[in-house]
Amino acid sequence: MSSRYPAAWLDELRSRSDIVQIVSGYVALNKKGRKYWGLCPFHGEKTPSFSVDGEHQLYYCFGCKAGGNVFHFYMEMEHCTFSEAVAQLAERAHMTLPELEKDDDYERRRTQRERLLAANKEAARFYHETLFTPKGAPALAYLRRRGLSDGVIRKFGLGASSEEWSDLSDRLLEKGFTLDELVLAGLTVRKKKEDGSDRYYDMFRSRAMFPIIDAYGNVLAFGGRTLEKKEPKYMNTSDTPVFNKRKGVFAANLLRQQRHLDRVILVEGYMDVVSLTQFGVEGVCATLGTALTAEQARLLKRYAPQVYLGYDGDSAGQHAILRGLDILEQENVPARVLDFPDGLDPDEFIRRDGAEGFSKLPAISPAAYRLRRLKEQFDLSAQDGRLAYARGAAEIVAAVDPLERDVLLGQLALETGFTRETLAEQMNLSARKAAAKPKEPAPQARVSGPNASAAPQSEDQKAQELLLSLFASGQIPKDMIEEKDFDDDELKSLYRELAGGASPASLPDLAPDEASRSRYTRLLLSPTANSTDEMISMANDCLNRINRTKLERRYEALSQEISSATGEQLSALLQEATEISDKLKKLK
Ligand SMILES: [Zn+2]
Repeated sequence: MSSRYPAAWLDELRSRSDIVQIVSGYVALNKKGRKYWGLCPFHGEKTPSFSVDGEHQLYYCFGCKAGGNVFHFYMEMEHCTFSEAVAQLAERAHMTLPELEKDDDYERRRTQRERLLAANKEAARFYHETLFTPKGAPALAYLRRRGLSDGVIRKFGLGASSEEWSDLSDRLLEKGFTLDELVLAGLTVRKKKEDGSDRYYDMFRSRAMFPIIDAYGNVLAFGGRTLEKKEPKYMNTSDTPVFNKRKGVFAANLLRQQRHLDRVILVEGYMDVVSLTQFGVEGVCATLGTALTAEQARLLKRYAPQVYLGYDGDSAGQHAILRGLDILEQENVPARVLDFPDGLDPDEFIRRDGAEGFSKLPAISPAAYRLRRLKEQFDLSAQDGRLAYARGAAEIVAAVDPLERDVLLGQLALETGFTRETLAEQMNLSARKAAAKPKEPAPQARVSGPNASAAPQSEDQKAQELLLSLFASGQIPKDMIEEKDFDDDELKSLYRELAGGASPASLPDLAPDEASRSRYTRLLLSPTANSTDEMISMANDCLNRINRTKLERRYEALSQEISSATGEQLSALLQEATEISDKLKKLK
């Protein structure tokens, strides 16, 4: 996109499309304090953690971290693009769409991303076309051998990279993309020849190609399955300016289309996703060649109230399940483990037993799964083994709800020969030990304020974030805060936009991806304060905290330097240390 709506016009549209009113059309909202609260439309929940901030015109869910301005809300609810949301809201507000304007600054920010996405889309098209030509025959044969229909091949936009060196690169260069862009997008590899000129070749060759598409239909990257028994079996695009393998999932575009899923099934391989989808299973996705991350867990929460792990039965898969369960638990996402029989992977299972068999697969609880894994480590025919297993099991059982605990205790009694009473006693001991350990803040405590976040933060970081939100409120003197008060790049850039006159509601439009949009929104929510005076005094506290941290850091560095300094340098350092120590005393 080389042009955009004029900022002033968008501001006008935003102010005529009151977010509280628009959201109320979809979600029942109650006013509590300065914000409106309701049940989040993007993840299943029973107590409201979805908030609408009428002052800053933003929405944010403290449960699944969905957030943005009125345009994003509309996009998410209506499954439409930004331009479509703008057009529809404009019609509603009786505003005519303006001429698109050219804006160099905006262009600089946007152009690279959009050029890379365009190159990826063109590449996906090319790979897909190639699949049905003689050069793509080996890939097509492979996909057919795996039982894929033409319908599902089209649905996922699967393709083929040929064995030629530079088919794709040549095509994209012809289309006007530069070699720099292709290298940046991870599509092309460049090597310098001895005479200094460039040699280049395609990143993916002789592979069946799986485009990785985000929820908005952008092609972010590719996965390629080898056809020649070459390692690696699967190769993914490395991280690029438009792709971060830790943040997205494979088939996010389909998840977005499948509304009201009661669970998302996370599998390991792209082929598993395609195969299960062909058999009619909905809500299947896969991580992008890495173990499940916290970002992905939070993303999945937006599509369904619980996640089923459908990993392979091999030992790598089993290990991945334990890690995945831990991550999901940390992010408060209810999870289950699909129990595939006979060591089958999801693809093999559905081919053998069909969709019918798949729907009847047992989905076991995290605790039951952890017990099963634990049990394998011990010899239960020996007294020592039973004892060690019972101790470990008590810890697992102590963490579950009373009903499941009752079932598991019964099972444990049978397995170990200890009575339920003894096991319950051991369990209480474990529970007390666990309680004595420092715990993560409860979810309730976490959702208490605009600056709450899932990741533990330093006091300094918290102060910087609160300071930004105070600045965004426009109620404290502008000259009170400077860019150098922030040391985080995102905070600095948000500060610059706000100082330049941008409204808080306009800033989520600048976020490069969903995760950043969520963070921007959280940072820009209006602060919880009753008066301007209170805000000013909060800002002062933040500035003190930030200065204190800076001085403390400098003081620490000084003591290092002092230990190895001599002569004049030493006395200068000592002088500075004394001054800092005086300043710190005054700040406390
Ligand atoms: Zn939510």
